[in-house]
Amino acid sequence: MRREFSAGGVLFKGDELLMIKNPSGVWTFPKGNVEEGETPQDAALREVLEETGIKGKILRELGEISYQYRFKGEKVFKRVRYYLMEYVEGTPKPSWEVKDAKFFPVDEAKKLIKYKGDREIFSKALKMKD
Ligand code: ATP
Repeated sequence: MRREFSAGGVLFKGDELLMIKNPSGVWTFPKGNVEEGETPQDAALREVLEETGIKGKILRELGEISYQYRFKGEKVFKRVRYYLMEYVEGTPKPSWEVKDAKFFPVDEAKKLIKYKGDREIFSKALKMKD
């Protein structure tokens, strides 16, 4: 089975939360592959910036989620490590990799979440935030 490891951010700007609409049309948190020689922290900050145009600062680690999907018939086992981040600078600007990138009030963000792992990481983020 193929394995992948990505890192991403749950980024708050005050009471608003940064989300992306992924190529499957699902609102989720920005993330991406941890490249060789790169720390998960650096990858998470880089991917948030690349996908959304927003620069963040890591406050702490939130933990990992995992899921499986199929790519050209092959099963992929994926782990994603998330960091709680706070806003530093920038205006949301979706990259070509994503369909949209926006800040949402926490209540709205909660309604948009579809993936089970995202729900878990979101509730952790809310608890750790203040
Ligand atoms: P990355 O952004 O890490 O480079 P990618 O864009 O290659 O990754 P994923 O975002 O992992 O790939 O998407 C691969 C498949 O998994 C898609 O079908 C997507 O809808 C699904 N997927 C994405 N995130 C999750 C999740 N948190 N839980 C379950 N399935 C997910």
